[in-house]
Amino acid sequence: MIQRSLVLLKPDALDRGIVGEIITRFERVGASIVGLKLLVSEKDTAEKHYTEDLAQRRGEAVRNMMIEMLLSGPVVAMTVEGVEIVEVVRKMVGATEPKAAAPGTIRGDYSHVSFAHADEKGIGVFNLIHASSSPEEAEVEINVWFRPEELFNRDSSYTKFTVKK
Ligand code: ADP
Repeated sequence: MIQRSLVLLKPDALDRGIVGEIITRFERVGASIVGLKLLVSEKDTAEKHYTEDLAQRRGEAVRNMMIEMLLSGPVVAMTVEGVEIVEVVRKMVGATEPKAAAPGTIRGDYSHVSFAHADEKGIGVFNLIHASSSPEEAEVEINVWFRPEELFNRDSSYTKFTVKK
């Protein structure tokens, strides 16, 4: 039942200065942060993240725009852990199109733009955050962004950092 999910705070989230607020939401529901870093993505990493699958679902143009967007500034990559957390995180993130994302979700509360607006401007839609859509996808994506030694294993190493009574 314990799962891990990959969360990416995209360049627009850093640009807006809301990284702390978004991370707080995950802490508030009790998800454990087991990996966290700020980086400028390599092209190769961005291409592995936005796979051919995205091109098939949304079109090659959207894939290319998303890769370009990911490379446009720093991103924060996180791995969160918790009970059936993949579904919980997706619920918190909200619908892909900010215009349609429900209030109370991250996208619904912090963004509002539409696909039509993005298409008119010839840019990818700014929706702040990415989260894995299934446990299988999470496993692949965590490997794209993190080396095993960058992830904290709560079972084995907690005691090292805990003050013993
Ligand atoms: P999600 O990130 O919600 O799982 P997708 O995997 O379908 O959504 O799309 C990946 C990213 O591509 C989205 O986060 C969004 O920023 C962008 N995107 C998707 N569809 C479009 C579109 N029609 N126009 C512009 N950008 C899009």
